[in-house]
Amino acid sequence: MNDCLFCKIVNGEIPSEFIFENDDCVAFKDIHPKASTHILIVPKKHISSIADVSYEDAPLLGKLLNYAREIGEKLSLSGYRLSINVGKDGGQEIFHLHIHLMSNS
Ligand code: 5GP
Ligand code: ZN
Repeated sequence: MNDCLFCKIVNGEIPSEFIFENDDCVAFKDIHPKASTHILIVPKKHISSIADVSYEDAPLLGKLLNYAREIGEKLSLSGYRLSINVGKDGGQEIFHLHIHLMSNS
């Protein structure tokens, strides 16, 4: 997507430090952290929102949760919260699907 901030981060147009990357996703620190640890897990594929996913996306969505677990393990987090904002009324500001991983540890 030409004008998508997270696509630009994914493809390196906006240089960012990835704390995790594989074929499916990148993860980086939220610019305005709302917890001691606040990471965004972003699929490389542009999907606007959970409101736009289909059952074809199920394998990717399932893998993203496993990547969240891997990130939690990599950062030795004792616990964390995962959240996804869906649509403007759900608090979504960036319309490229992402999972917030937040922890107080
Ligand atoms: P949403 O509200 O769409 O679920 O979450 C978007 C998140 O992206 C917000 O928590 C916001 O702080 C974060 N964010 C917005 N712009 C940037 C940016 O340029 N870099 C990073 N690392 N995070 C951003
Ligand atoms: Zn995008």
